[in-house]
This record gives sequence, C-alpha cells and structure tokens, in this order.
Amino acid sequence: MISSKEEKYFAAVDAREKDLTELSKKIWGYAELGLQEKKSAKAIAEYLEKEGFKVQLGVGSIPTAICAEYGSGHPVIAYLGEYDALPQLDQKVAAHKEWEHPETPELPGHGCGHNNLGVGAVGAAIFLKEAIASGAVKGTVRFYGCPAEETLVGKVFMVRDGAFKDVDCAMTWHSHAYNGAWGACYTCMNSVKFHFHGKAAHAAGHPFDGRSALDAVELMNVAANYMREHVKPDVRLHYSTICNCAPNVVPDKCSVWYYIRAPKRKDVDEVYSWLCDCAKGAALMTQTTFDIEFLTGCSEVLPNDVLEQVMLSAYKEVGAPKFSPEDYAFAEEIAKTYPEVLARDRRVMKEEYGENGDDKFLCDIVFDKVIENRLVAPGSTDVGDVSHVVLTYQIYVAGQGIGCPGHSWQMTAYSGSHVGFASMLCAAKVLGLSGLRLLENPELVKEAWDNFHKNQPEPYVSPLPADLKPNLEG
Ligand SMILES: [Zn+2]
Repeated sequence: MISSKEEKYFAAVDAREKDLTELSKKIWGYAELGLQEKKSAKAIAEYLEKEGFKVQLGVGSIPTAICAEYGSGHPVIAYLGEYDALPQLDQKVAAHKEWEHPETPELPGHGCGHNNLGVGAVGAAIFLKEAIASGAVKGTVRFYGCPAEETLVGKVFMVRDGAFKDVDCAMTWHSHAYNGAWGACYTCMNSVKFHFHGKAAHAAGHPFDGRSALDAVELMNVAANYMREHVKPDVRLHYSTICNCAPNVVPDKCSVWYYIRAPKRKDVDEVYSWLCDCAKGAALMTQTTFDIEFLTGCSEVLPNDVLEQVMLSAYKEVGAPKFSPEDYAFAEEIAKTYPEVLARDRRVMKEEYGENGDDKFLCDIVFDKVIENRLVAPGSTDVGDVSHVVLTYQIYVAGQGIGCPGHSWQMTAYSGSHVGFASMLCAAKVLGLSGLRLLENPELVKEAWDNFHKNQPEPYVSPLPADLKPNLEG
C-alpha cells in the first residue's frame, strides 16, 4: 500500500509533468541516431543537474552516455534510459499519413519511443531522489543515459567498461501496447561486417586482370546459406550486401554485414567462428582478401523472479497510464491504419493473458500475468548484458495503441503524443516505487541476488573484444 508519506514522491513526479513532457518533446524533435545523441544527452544532463544530481556526461568510450547520481552508499539503484532515434522514419504527430516531408524523407524519427524511455527513467530517478532527500530511506539513486540501443551498442560497451560495477539493481522499461512485467529473455547477437578487397578491372575489356570482391561476398553468402541447415534451429542469420559498383567494373571493394542470433552466447560464438571460415574460403576461391569489422555483440536477458514480483506489485499499485479522452480518440483514429494487427493483438491479449481488450484501442489495465514469460523473443536487446552483471528487470508500459506496428510512422506519432507522455509518467512512478520498495527492504536486494546466482548459467564474458571502440561516426 502506498502510504501518505510516499504520496509525496508521486506528487514530486506530478509536479514535474510539464518539465518532463517538454524534455521528452524536445528529444522527440531532435530525433538523433545512436551515438549522435548530443543534444538529447545534453538536455537530460542539464535537467538532472538542475535537480541536484551529480552528473557525468560521457561514460567510458561513449560521449553521449550519462551517469547521474544522488545519495550515498548501498543499495545503489540504477534506472536505465535511452534517447536514440531510428533512420528514415521522418515524423509527425498525426493519425493518418496524408503528410510527407518530400525534401527530408530520410530524416530519423522516434519510431521506438526512446524519447519517452530516457525521460521516464529520469522521472523515476527524481522520485527516488525525493525519498532519499527526505531521509526516509538510505542509498544511492543513479540515472544511466544509455545511447544507441537500436544498434545494440551503448549498454554492452558500458558494461564492458565497468560502468555498472558497484550497482546493486537496475530497472528499465519499454513502450509497448500492453502494461505489465516483461519476462522475455531475447537472443544473443553479433553484428559484424566482412570487407573484401579485390582488384578493379574493366569488366568487358580486361576481366582477367581483376579479382572481384563481389564474387567473394556472393560465395561467402552461398556458404552461409548452406551452413544454415547444420546450425541449431533457433539460430538466425541475416545479411545485407554493401557494394556500390557499376556492372561494367570488376569491383575491388565489397562488404557484407551479418547479424548472427541465438538464444545462448555459446551458439552465437560457434556460428560466428564457422562464418569466419566461410569468409576465408570465399577469399581463397576468389583470390581476394578480407578484414573483419566487429561492430557489437550482446547477450540474452537473465530473468529475476524477485525483482519481477517487486516491480509487478509496484505496477499494480500505480496502475496503468492515465490517458485523456483525446488519447482514446487519437488511438481509435490511427488504428484504422493497422486493422489486422489490432485484431491479432486483441486476440493475444485475451487468449494468452486473459485480459479482454475487444473494445479497446489503448491498453489501460495492468496484466496479472508476466508478458512473454521466460520466452526467447526473436529480437535482441543490450539490456541483456546489464542483466549479466547486475540485478535487472524491465516492464512494458502502454505508450502506443494495441496493434501499433513497431519502428513505424504510427509509432513516431504515438511517441510524440500525449499517449507516449502518459506512459512516460506512469513508468517514472512504477520504477520509482519499485526502487523505493528495495531501499525500504534491503533484504529484497539480497534475495534478488540469490535468485540472480541461481539463474546465471556461467560467469559473464563480454561479447566485445577488449580493445574495441564504438564507431562514433555511425
Ligand atoms: Zn526500443
């Protein structure tokens, strides 16, 4: 139960609703890609400084990462927040795409709601700061600004560089159509480019003088596609060829970008090593050479049963986001652009979670059941690596309508609308209250660590080479 004393911390978040919304709107407007989030990071850092946090802008090798803290001693409670956008989305808060920005169609947009993720975590940090400042609880609250989530870079590098080494517990959230605890494990991944080098020549006149880097890429891809039959069924390989050569030139440069995914790191490592052999074979066959650009890798998310219960019960106390009549009307209108997914997700709501959403366009209830409980979701997240070194848990908060496709113009519209801001405010309170419960009951932190050791299969090894630097050029 929320006590009258605790009401004050909720009031502190409510009192900043305007500020937090303005901050989120600003970041939505900046729409900066991963590792380029200079204005967004600066805006958050300045705001936290004004709120009395000790702020460090730039963490390890990432200038747009933030570590801000308030309080002292253990437990150290960390809130993780993102602020990177996606390429080629453009954006406008509108229910129909009868708009175009013909001169800027390639502009990035907040198609995953990360403008709200970062600011929601800021709100949670303020909630807990108020509790610590009042003397009611002891400990430290930290906000970690985590760049480049979309490219799975930020947190993996931050973990490798020791940014979380004295943290007891990390919490975060993501926008979704539903509200609830989020128990998915996600896949481990490597993101790697293979750059082949050959010898250019006139393709008609002197092809015998040339050695084709494109041939090497094609042969490597053929080998990889034959390899598919012999890897575990849940391994996923995707690639994209990068070659800008005219057909009448034997290309001396050609690259291929691979994602390798699997539920366990061991499988990613094994398939990656086999893929490197495919590259070697292709180079040998074509008399070309190649080098490897390892971009990033990540690990699966470890569940934590104790933290899950703490966050779910805090969520039940706070309740779902408070949507306005205009929000419901907006959701009903924009849902006309995704009728099939709306129907499917309403079905999922009922069949898998026992919640009736048949007449709903926005989810305004908190699920009793854990969403995607212990499922290996096919995507990947850099939250996984944090979960291997620190207690970590995440929740879903409805910042988009039921059925809204991810990484879409509809999602950018939601992220810049009051629906997204309502989810941000709700997340701030759930994360804040969860942190408070942990500081009030430090034995829960101990219990959660016992659970952590039970769930961690083997000691964590960073998927990144020790000397790898993030590619700040993007
Ligand atoms: Zn996202």
